[in-house]
Amino acid sequence: MGIPSDLEIATAASLRPLHEIADRLGIPQDFVEPYGRSVAKIDLDVLTAEGQPTAQRAKYVVVTAVTPTPLGEGKTTTAVGLADGLSRIGQTVAVTLRQPSMGPTFGIKGGAAGGGYAQVVPMDKLNLHLTGDFHAVTAAHNLLAAMLDNHLHHGNSLNIDPRNITWRRVLDVNDRALRNIVVGLGARIDGVTRQTGFDITAASEVMVLLTLATSLDDLKARLRRIVVGYAYDGRPVTADDLGAAGAMAVILKDALNPNLLQTIEGTPALIHCGPFGNIATGSSSVVADIVATRRADIVLTEAGFGSDMGAERFFNVKCRVAGLRPDAAVLVVTVRALKAHSGRFKITPGKALPPELLAENPGDVRAGIANLRKHIQIIEGFGIWPVVAINAFDTDFDSEHQVIRDLCTEMGVKCAVSTHVVNGGAGAEDLARTLVDALRTPSRFRFTYASDAHLTAKIEAVAKQVYGADGVDFAPPAAKALAEYERLGFGGLPVVIAKTHLSISHDPSLLGAPTGWRLPVREVRAAAGAGYVYAICGDMRTMPGLSSHPNAEKIDLVDGEIVGLS
Ligand code: ADP
Ligand code: MG
Repeated sequence: MGIPSDLEIATAASLRPLHEIADRLGIPQDFVEPYGRSVAKIDLDVLTAEGQPTAQRAKYVVVTAVTPTPLGEGKTTTAVGLADGLSRIGQTVAVTLRQPSMGPTFGIKGGAAGGGYAQVVPMDKLNLHLTGDFHAVTAAHNLLAAMLDNHLHHGNSLNIDPRNITWRRVLDVNDRALRNIVVGLGARIDGVTRQTGFDITAASEVMVLLTLATSLDDLKARLRRIVVGYAYDGRPVTADDLGAAGAMAVILKDALNPNLLQTIEGTPALIHCGPFGNIATGSSSVVADIVATRRADIVLTEAGFGSDMGAERFFNVKCRVAGLRPDAAVLVVTVRALKAHSGRFKITPGKALPPELLAENPGDVRAGIANLRKHIQIIEGFGIWPVVAINAFDTDFDSEHQVIRDLCTEMGVKCAVSTHVVNGGAGAEDLARTLVDALRTPSRFRFTYASDAHLTAKIEAVAKQVYGADGVDFAPPAAKALAEYERLGFGGLPVVIAKTHLSISHDPSLLGAPTGWRLPVREVRAAAGAGYVYAICGDMRTMPGLSSHPNAEKIDLVDGEIVGLS
């Protein structure tokens, strides 16, 4: 596109001293714990210390998107660019994002810290270990697995049924060969033989638990409630039963503190946690947002995938747990995504988009616009203001943007074009002003369901009111599990629906705004520690594999410098 690579832009950026970044949010130096020169952790005592703000003051804005192509439509770049645009027009702003997972960094995607002139820096640290939070999650998760197998070895006094153990192991590497493994091979002293497997660290329940915890005490309480499997009599066995929660909390103590970084233009960025978007919530941490919303005028946070997935969980799960009131949603749309929704092109994941899709053709955009209309309605269904952000690509034409503007005019929704990837914050100033304008009118936020509704009713409410399904078909094992979870006292938890992100329905081939379909729920599981129940619709991969030529082949260290990260 005629601009340097993400890594070149990020490396050329001159970073401001972190104390200046913390100052922008009024975070006193006593609570800023440096991890080297360019990253710090924020001590969570800042939430309870005397004289520090105790209530939400910021307008809280989620950055979401239409149903994406497999390439991603630019939520992260828009969140970062818009944060810089807002800073430029005089707002005190913070952007809160997930930490990228190393598995995909070395797999298919390369870096995930934004792109072009809309990036969080230092991008190499961000895409690699950062402050070790992912390693801490891995260690805490695997300690619990080790204590569980150790319990089986030493007589199994809890009567755990080895064929009904749900706790697996995790690693932050895309490694398909570890999906199914046998542990305990060897001699008698080498443990009890059983089949299990590995998930990627981002899919760990400990990762979501860290995301949703509101304090160290809450973290411990959630760790205690983790269910690792079931006894022969069907009773759930918890991390508390195994005496593991305290040690896990010790491992995670520092990981609960959010990481402070900055954008290329010096806007504060809190990067914290990275749960999967399919089976988990797919958003950054609650604590980072609590810190930020007490101090900034506007807090922007990204939620994974389209508004049916990320924003729905952001509203119904994250905001509920955090006790934070959302005000608006920035809905990222691209010409290429709407053209893809026309159904006129064949798009293959992992391959470049077909060249015909990139030619000027407002008719193709019009043919896919139903998807944008539906996402606008989804957000309005929460009583929240949508602001449509057209993330401009250099292959776009004004005639194509006009189709999007026309729909927004028809629906009475604010809309702006943003060129942040090429122009940084300056390219997002229009969008920034449009958002500030939208925020002048208070929102009337409402959840899709009440906490005390039945789990079945919660799933039905999301399927019908958010996705637009005609109803839900629960497979017999799913219906049985739901009844069991109500009986076990998990009925008050919110729900997460694990489905494809490539359609508003469960079927990736249904483009646009599907109607006349029912949501099939194959299986239901409880993440009792993290605090939600999830319904699985379709095949959900929790340990990705590598392609025939993974990105890792391009990444190298040359004269001490990292190359090929993106
Ligand atoms: P999401 O967060 O929605 O998955 P990202 O912001 O990570 O999307 O963007 C996906 C990919 O597309 C990234 O590689 C990013 O650099 C690139 N990208 C996003 N917006 C643009 C744009 N306007 N022009 C060129 N590339 C872009
Ligand atoms: Mg993203």
